[in-house]
Amino acid sequence: MTKRIFRAVFGVAMVMMLSITALVMGMMYEYFSNEQYKQLRSQAIYVAAGTQMNGQAYLLQTKNLSNRVTWIDEDGAILFDSKVDPTNMNNHKDREEIIAAFENGEGSSVRYSATILKKTVNYAVKLQDGTIIRVSEETISLFSIFLIMLQPLVVILVASILVSVALSFRTAKKITKPINDIDLERPELEVVYDELTPLLRRIAVQNKQLYDQMRELERQKQEFDTITSNMQEGILVLDMKAEVLSYNKGALLLMGIESPKDSSSVYELNRSEGFRRCVESALSGNHREENIQLADKVCQVFANPVTQERMVAGAILVLLDVTEREEREGLRREFTANVSHELKTPLTSISGFAEIMKNGMVKEADVPRFASNIYDEAQRLIQMVQDIIKLSKLDEKQIAMEKATINLESLVREVVKRLEPIAEKKGVTILVDTEPVSVVGVYQVLQEMVYNLCDNGIRYNRTDGMLTLTLQNKEKEVLLLVSDTGIGIAKANQSRIFERFYRVNESRSKETEGTGLGLSIVKHGAKLHNATVGLVSELEKGTTISISFPK
Ligand code: ADP
Repeated sequence: MTKRIFRAVFGVAMVMMLSITALVMGMMYEYFSNEQYKQLRSQAIYVAAGTQMNGQAYLLQTKNLSNRVTWIDEDGAILFDSKVDPTNMNNHKDREEIIAAFENGEGSSVRYSATILKKTVNYAVKLQDGTIIRVSEETISLFSIFLIMLQPLVVILVASILVSVALSFRTAKKITKPINDIDLERPELEVVYDELTPLLRRIAVQNKQLYDQMRELERQKQEFDTITSNMQEGILVLDMKAEVLSYNKGALLLMGIESPKDSSSVYELNRSEGFRRCVESALSGNHREENIQLADKVCQVFANPVTQERMVAGAILVLLDVTEREEREGLRREFTANVSHELKTPLTSISGFAEIMKNGMVKEADVPRFASNIYDEAQRLIQMVQDIIKLSKLDEKQIAMEKATINLESLVREVVKRLEPIAEKKGVTILVDTEPVSVVGVYQVLQEMVYNLCDNGIRYNRTDGMLTLTLQNKEKEVLLLVSDTGIGIAKANQSRIFERFYRVNESRSKETEGTGLGLSIVKHGAKLHNATVGLVSELEKGTTISISFPK
């Protein structure tokens, strides 16, 4: 804008200056030409009067005049000329001023030299005798004046241009400065030019609209950020080039990365085949789901295209941590396989015994033995099913989890009392070293845990062995120790005995009638009570299992 104003002001100044110069020059020239003409006429009249009175004698005096005086007779022949020899001169009858003087008594003419640098003004006056006196003055032409003045004119012009440039620049700056200084945030405060008022008002209105829209956008963004940053699920928003436009904390945590670089490709976050397939599918407009394996997690990716005006403009990836679900599914599959396997063994036995009996292949005397076998296997089945039910209840937390303060000492003694006949049968002595102590928990579950531990302590003991139960009320915990002098557990098996259906081979071979679920119930029961289970065992020496209830 400053440039345009500058050009306009400078242009106007230049045009004005040049036209005024030309006009003044023209007027001056016109004025001086008129004056010269008048003087020439007076001179011609004087010379004519002088010649009238004194004839040639007077004319001779005019030789000193700067102007040229010529005397012409009625035929146009030259009688006298103050500058040139008349014999060398042509007849002047057809000259414009002479013709006019013959006709009207006076006449004038202007003649330019061949180079138009000079002009001759002639004035002719008719005498009473019919002859003509002509006075001619040679002067420079307007063009010559222009050429003579050219140098000073150029100097003046350059000076004027410089002054005009400076003034135009200052003027342009002065005009635009208030406009440049307008505070566009609050344009209505400084109205310098009235003409700008409607524009500034409009800007103010649009400012307000923009501000409102920005606030709304900000609010929406904050809302979105709050939602996404508090989501455990990961979200990645991609553009058409598969560059990450936006992401949430969940995505970073899941993928185990700090933060993606600006406009980095999503493929840098994960290079697995499944992830690539998801991204490519979404960017080509199709939904896709895949499970991908991350360092220590399994992640489910839902990839959806983002469309704008029916064109795919990008993609949104939602990432779910399905590690636990996958693990649980794996465990469930394993559990189902184990259950089927474990149930099949006693059922096969029962079916075998029953088939033999049905075919009448059993002697009368053997019937009680066969019936006893069927009974034992059925009992084993019942025991197993009961254990499975208990475990699944603990799993699904279906047990009436009404926790209460339980006197653990009396619970332990009660369990010992129930197991004493079995211990006696096996020749195991039970020692109980307790102190009055209570924990907050579920009675039924605690009883099951203590029973299973003691039962194992008797079953995997040696004849004449010992089973010691200790209950200690410590400062930060209640500690239950179940210690036996039995067969012990090899180091390699120690980490696995709490798994479902896991039984150490040697103990299995001894047909100890276990289901492999007892310690699983202990582990889940402890979890329910936020207790920790510990194990110390040495082969052929014995095993101590501890349960620590936090206070
Ligand atoms: P089970 O019904 O077979 O006893 P558990 O889950 O109670 O099932 O125990 C799993 C396995 O751990 C047992 O089969 C046994 O081999 C081993 N085990 C458990 N307790 C003891 C123990 N006190 N002494 C030696 N081995 C034990």
